[in-house]
Amino acid sequence: MAIKDQPQAPRSRQFGNILLLISGLLLLVNIFAPTLFGTPIPRVPYSLFIDQVQDMEVERVSVGQNEIRYQLKPEADGAVQTFITTPVFDLELPKLLEEKGVEFAAPPPPKNRWITSLLGWVIPPLIFVGIWQLFLNRGNGAQGVLSIGKSKAKVYVESDSGKVTFADVAGVEEAKTELVEIVEFLKTPQKFTQIGAKIPRGVLLIGPPGTGKTLLAKAVAGEAGVPFFSISGSEFVEMFVGVGSSRVRDLFEQAKKQAPCIIFIDELDAIGKSRASGGFYGGNDEREQTLNQLLTEMDGFGADDKTVIVLAATNRPESLDAALLRPGRFDRQVLVDRPDLSGRLAILEVHSKAVKLGADIDLKAIATRTPGFAGADLANLVNEAALLAARNGREAVAQEDFNEAIERVVAGLEKKSRVLNEKEKKIVAYHEVGHALVGALMESNGRVEKISIVPRGMAALGYTLQLPTEDRFLLSEAELNGQIATLLGGRSAEEVVFGSITTGASNDLQRATDLAERMVTTYGMSKVLGPLAYQQGQQNNFLGNEGMNPRRMVSPQTAEAIDQEVKGIVEAAHQKALDILNANRELLETITAKLLDTEVIEGELLRDLLGQVNQVAV
Ligand code: ADP
Ligand code: ZN
Repeated sequence: MAIKDQPQAPRSRQFGNILLLISGLLLLVNIFAPTLFGTPIPRVPYSLFIDQVQDMEVERVSVGQNEIRYQLKPEADGAVQTFITTPVFDLELPKLLEEKGVEFAAPPPPKNRWITSLLGWVIPPLIFVGIWQLFLNRGNGAQGVLSIGKSKAKVYVESDSGKVTFADVAGVEEAKTELVEIVEFLKTPQKFTQIGAKIPRGVLLIGPPGTGKTLLAKAVAGEAGVPFFSISGSEFVEMFVGVGSSRVRDLFEQAKKQAPCIIFIDELDAIGKSRASGGFYGGNDEREQTLNQLLTEMDGFGADDKTVIVLAATNRPESLDAALLRPGRFDRQVLVDRPDLSGRLAILEVHSKAVKLGADIDLKAIATRTPGFAGADLANLVNEAALLAARNGREAVAQEDFNEAIERVVAGLEKKSRVLNEKEKKIVAYHEVGHALVGALMESNGRVEKISIVPRGMAALGYTLQLPTEDRFLLSEAELNGQIATLLGGRSAEEVVFGSITTGASNDLQRATDLAERMVTTYGMSKVLGPLAYQQGQQNNFLGNEGMNPRRMVSPQTAEAIDQEVKGIVEAAHQKALDILNANRELLETITAKLLDTEVIEGELLRDLLGQVNQVAV
């Protein structure tokens, strides 16, 4: 795939450098202007000048603001000598000159005056521009002044040789299935517009770094055979207000000219950070303007018959401004998660195509040993192994090379705490199954959709995905209690199985305690405390995860009662979770063993397994 930079980029930078050069030259000229454009005149001290006046040697004087020029009386041979001196603030001078009969006047405008004044006006701005230019070039490689508003998008133009297709992306089957539709929108938009359907404008790819979001976006472009504009969100945000928004405008303008095409915005969160969440620290007008421009552009196109689809990537969807996710903008969201065992195998297969593999290579074993690796890590692993093989003087990559490479890559990743050892993996598996088992029994908690021990993000080592079966706006006390019990299910499973607990449950506990506290202080669900709201202010997001509001002023007794009630709720839920798990001890083992084997359980299989849970009387 050929990468073509926007042509104006280098040219403008060159132009900027020329400006810099010219301004430098002009500066020199300015300094030497008097000597270049006039005859050199000797400069003498003011005291000498006064002496000469006193001695009646001076014929005429021209008093300027910055210098005094004077002519001595002609000598015997008729030669006239002229001198310059620097004036001292001297009110007596005119009087003295008059006394001594010296002819004096203000200086006539010098012949080269216009040049000096022109230089005076022109040079400072040029110098400023030059410095700015230098600063920009030095800084983040941003572009020159004259193109400051231009987008820095790279355009990947189709060439048959290096075309990325879906075959190059592995292990993210769900995401691929969803994106196949986008390819169709790009290829045959008429099919959809004919019957009045609107082509979606924005698709948000959500997932941790290195899972192949960029690759997927390129593959969509490759499959559809359309140009691909790629830019990173952070490149929009400059220190100059207005730059980001004009870059956005420019990017969309160019894209529309090439429609149908794809715009890919990496790190969308760099511009799209929620305005409400305090993501904007003082003076962030720039980001806001950029975001607004993006929203305007997305709302604006599609009206005319041009298919421009914006794909954006983020690993922090929760921090995005809600306005970005509205219908007509990034209303489609595609999860691009770290691959599970079979996904990793598929990715290894894709990447090892390019290297010579020895006969003893067992890719399945490699996939098993690399939980938590994202696509990029696996690509890196294959390359490391190939490098090692070459260094060891082998013809083809051996399993041994892979083993060594895994150790290297893991060492790198472990620093980011993403890779689990066997023991940890086991604990996480029990923990997640604990959540799932308790969750399966709790009233209206939604269905448990997926259990995974593929590490996700920096904090979560595994996760249990529970989807509500319907949209819920009101939750009953029983449901809230159920949620708390589900949150505690993970820790409870660790207790039941190992008799000890790990630090892995801290986030669960935090959330469970927050919920219980809200039940007591916000929703008035405590019999002891009654229907009073002890929390101040409006909770603008029902069960949202923003921080707790400050408590109303309460007496120490009330505060103690609140704490007691919160503790009571959490403890009751904990007991319930323990009861459920003890009653389903065997199932806990069965599902955990299965999970350790495949890393992810979902769909039909999960429903079958969880269908066997025994209800316990509480
Ligand atoms: P992201 O945009 O999610 O951070 P990239 O798409 O930039 O990740 O991935 C970087 C590289 O890692 C890709 O160019 C590719 O070589 C490899 N890679 C990542 N995910 C996959 C995948 N699912 N299948 C194949 N290769 C992948
Ligand atoms: Zn948990």
